[in-house]
Amino acid sequence: REWCVALPKVELHAHLNGSVRNSTLLELAKELGDKGVIVLEDVKDVIMKNDRCLPECVRLFDLFHILTTDHDTVTRIAKEVVGDFAAENVVYLEIRTTPKNNEAKGITKRSYMNAVVKGHKSVEDVDALLNNEKLSCTPMSDLGGDTKRKKIYVRLLLSIDRHETTSAALDTVNLAMEMKDQGVIGIDLSGNPVIGEWETYLPALEHAKELGIPTTIHCGEVPNRKEIQAMLDFCPQRLGHVCCLDDEEWKKLKSSVIPVEICLTSNVMTGGTPSLERHHFADLYNAKHPLSICTDDCGLFSTSLSNEYYLAASTFGLSKTELFRLAQGAVEFVFADDEVKKSLRTVFERAAHELG
Ligand code: 5GP
Repeated sequence: REWCVALPKVELHAHLNGSVRNSTLLELAKELGDKGVIVLEDVKDVIMKNDRCLPECVRLFDLFHILTTDHDTVTRIAKEVVGDFAAENVVYLEIRTTPKNNEAKGITKRSYMNAVVKGHKSVEDVDALLNNEKLSCTPMSDLGGDTKRKKIYVRLLLSIDRHETTSAALDTVNLAMEMKDQGVIGIDLSGNPVIGEWETYLPALEHAKELGIPTTIHCGEVPNRKEIQAMLDFCPQRLGHVCCLDDEEWKKLKSSVIPVEICLTSNVMTGGTPSLERHHFADLYNAKHPLSICTDDCGLFSTSLSNEYYLAASTFGLSKTELFRLAQGAVEFVFADDEVKKSLRTVFERAAHELG
């Protein structure tokens, strides 16, 4: 486990509101409880519960959004999440979040995202290398002499939620374009997998493609033949989960070589896979399919990226060398530019010597 913490890691699939510390959620719940907005006792056990099925997760996000959706809190969680990933040696983080309109609270998609960016800019204890900072031009290895200070590249993906209309989804893509110099580098499609129609989001995803914005799509969390086929045909830059594929879809996925974001704990908890041992990681790994180990929601699923690597090693018998190569391989699937990739390759080359 300690070795997995020391291993430099790349996180490509983490939702902001799913990555909030339980302690922060409890603190926010207490504040809202004191104001009479919620009943603390009702939500305390829900927050602290460890084992959650998919419908429970969806309901929990509604609660998380009540707790976290105001500008200052968004800034706070955006800051904390970067610090938490950096603390376990994540050297590159693509954090995704759904820009939210909330008229009652005076929040627009743009102001929500500004609050996220503000949080990233206010990270204090680590060098967060953001797109619009001078630092982003500096290779990670050239930064400061303080070797104890963690360094992390942070980039943002804007999520389209499956509840949204075509027009709202298009707004999100246009916002991503507007915020390119603020660290926004991609688009995600997520949200409750049993609602919504692929055709609703497709115009926005096509628009992203036209604008040259990379996309990643939550695919096959539940069986849905028509949608899975359409998602594979769309050919996004990456796919998340891919749990419920049939034989023909597996073949199609493998021949597509679209990198897959693997979320072990999340898939077991939400029932996308019957058990860790029977997770499709093994099949894809043995087929040498491009893969990246991710957390999905380290808060919601009480995990960490180091723990996900440890689970992959202990469940599928991977050696340290194999685990290292898996972590290193993820560098090739990041949405950031070639300069960042080059810098990350150097980080891994150095770590290869240090970790032995
Ligand atoms: P946010 O976008 O508010 O920062 O993060 C929470 C949102 O991420 C949820 O409301 C949901 O739309 C999405 N999300 C988080 N985890 C999952 C997951 O496992 N599957 C899907 N489909 N969506 C998720």
